[in-house]
Amino acid sequence: MAKIGFIGLGNMGGPMASNLVRAGHSVTVFDLSESAVAELSSQGAQGASSVEQVCEDADFVVSMLPAGKHVRMIYCGENGLINHLDKSTLVIDCSTIDAESAQFVGNELAKAGVSFVDAPVSGGVAGAAAGTLTFIVGGSEADFNRANSILTDMGKNIFHAGNIGAGQVAKICNNMLLSILMAGTSEALQMGIDHGLDPKVLSEIMLNSSGRNWTLEVYNPCPNVQENVPSSNGYKPGFMVDLMAKDLGLAQQAAQQTNSATPLGAMAKNLYNLMQNQGKGAEDFSAIFKLYSEK
Ligand code: NAD
Repeated sequence: MAKIGFIGLGNMGGPMASNLVRAGHSVTVFDLSESAVAELSSQGAQGASSVEQVCEDADFVVSMLPAGKHVRMIYCGENGLINHLDKSTLVIDCSTIDAESAQFVGNELAKAGVSFVDAPVSGGVAGAAAGTLTFIVGGSEADFNRANSILTDMGKNIFHAGNIGAGQVAKICNNMLLSILMAGTSEALQMGIDHGLDPKVLSEIMLNSSGRNWTLEVYNPCPNVQENVPSSNGYKPGFMVDLMAKDLGLAQQAAQQTNSATPLGAMAKNLYNLMQNQGKGAEDFSAIFKLYSEK
């Protein structure tokens, strides 16, 4: 069993840390929110009163933070963990951030002799709670193998995408595609409804035709077609519009760096920004259906 420091106990980090405790690891946790630390402590983790404490004798430090600036600050900022980490510790950052920040932090830690992998996840809050997340890892083969030994306690599918930063690139490619599928599925469903079709019947037809995709399979954006999905539950998240808009911003940033043409990704980003401007940022990302259905 490993000694693990865990930073960031939000919607995702909380249940992920909880699964590490359940797997029998010795887990020390830190978050700016004292109540989040208290909750994990009640489940058997050790609560830290400072971020430095999570590093002490840690085999692994795992972080699950909102954005690149938080990750840069925690590891490389003034009083960053770079000054406290032991050379034998492997840092695993699971946050979804820009690949440049992951590479920056990875390079800085390497100068201090500390290993780092980026390991963003797919699978949402439900996957985090069930321990069925997909991890997309960027880093050396040796560090990937080492990370694998604890990622399997939080996830089901663990992929090695390439060097540091590659995990982030693969993750935003996936989310850009997902947003396009969600918008396109909503558009097609509403056109059918406008012509008098039953969305359940139309969904079934498309599921068994060439329009089949993940949103139709398990995350239908039209209310009351499927049970237990956000659209049938007032679009309560799930995966928030704000987070999808953040990922689509990262995707456009990445596209610009390589002059990659991503016209559909740009369109999807604009649609999600429109939703944010309409005050729908905290709704589930499948609420994009309302852009088409609300007349
Ligand atoms: P969240 O806002 O619920 O949690 C972030 C946590 O980090 C909060 O508890 C906050 O207090 C803590 N935090 C912020 N700054 C800190 C600091 N300096 N020190 C210690 N703790 C700090 O966010 P989340 O939904 O858990 O998402 C975390 C990451 O996972 C994001 O990058 C997000 O894009 C990604 N992600 C989220 C989902 C999802 O469905 N929510 C799915 C996949 C990936």
